[in-house]
Amino acid sequence: MGKFMSNRYRNLKPYIPGEQPKDKIYIKLNANETSRPPSPKVLEVLKSDRMKQLGMYTDPHSRELKKAVSDTFDVSMAEIFVGNGSDEILGYIFLTFFENKHICYPDITYSFYATLALALDIDAEEIKLKKDFTIDINQFIETNRHIILANPNAPTGYALSIREIEKIVRSKPDRLVIVDEAYIDYGNESSIPLVKKYDNLMVIHTMSKSRNLAGAHIGYCIANKKLIADIESIKSVLNPFNLSDISMAVGTAAMLDRKYLQQTVQAVIEARIYITNELRKMNFYVLESNTNFVFVSHPWLSAEEYNIRLKEHGILARHYKKPDRIRNFLRITVGTMLEMAAVVQATRKILLSLAA
Ligand SMILES: *Cc1c(COP(=O)(O)O)cnc(C)c1O
Repeated sequence: MGKFMSNRYRNLKPYIPGEQPKDKIYIKLNANETSRPPSPKVLEVLKSDRMKQLGMYTDPHSRELKKAVSDTFDVSMAEIFVGNGSDEILGYIFLTFFENKHICYPDITYSFYATLALALDIDAEEIKLKKDFTIDINQFIETNRHIILANPNAPTGYALSIREIEKIVRSKPDRLVIVDEAYIDYGNESSIPLVKKYDNLMVIHTMSKSRNLAGAHIGYCIANKKLIADIESIKSVLNPFNLSDISMAVGTAAMLDRKYLQQTVQAVIEARIYITNELRKMNFYVLESNTNFVFVSHPWLSAEEYNIRLKEHGILARHYKKPDRIRNFLRITVGTMLEMAAVVQATRKILLSLAA
């Protein structure tokens, strides 16, 4: 650390995303991205005359994208915030609402929440998932802390129903409940309709997963307009043009192409059923996923070893050493059918070579 670094950041622990090695071409299944292209409408907009206007700043209120989100989810534009990925939105939410506050989230969840809490010195409690990795909603109902929940959760893949989310939101109107719905499109019910009823709920979506746009990095948040106005004010002083015009153009095009979203989701669900069945045939324990990844464990092949061997076969997956009880699980993104067939084939070879 250099001598000019501000003291308050001395304990900063950088977030570690899935690795992106460049030594050879890998099948990348470690960050829940996709090799499938975005909607053709996105590619069209990138080739359009609009791109000749990049010498101009874009609309700092990102109204074009907000309009598309507003039409899609039947909420008003004042109830929408857009950001440079949902990570940025989470950052603004933490900055805007959580200074000197107490927050909580599950002990096994998206690790960026802990990264942010640590960086901003926010008191965070990790609430233990049950033995079977499901969420004990009573613990979240009982706590007085603000709550952050990934729904479906990562890396487990389990989802709470909208009724369960509503129970938590309703239980204490004086605390915020942030629901991170990064994987909602893969067959789950969104909590967005609850935003009209509750002014303590914020729902976050990303275009990095089901919209095949991780590289454009676009997210949006839907909440009561007072909450949105508060994060807008923080954004306006930190990064008024947080979404580039390129992102706004492609995000809008992707948002409006619902048919392509459905096709993508359908393809992922088919591939998920395939990989789940094939791995189970090889004795893997595969959690029932509601997302574009599977979380798997094997009776005698350790997750760490499996991860290393897959990499030797040119396949990247994600292994977490902490907490201890997920040490023996590997998270594998559900890619295309071809990519999943490659995983099955590599896994078969790995098991055979070690059994011999
Ligand atoms: C991938 C992911 C994100 C990050 O999304 P970006 O929009 O790419 O920043 C946020 N939350 C969860 C649970 C995720 O899995």
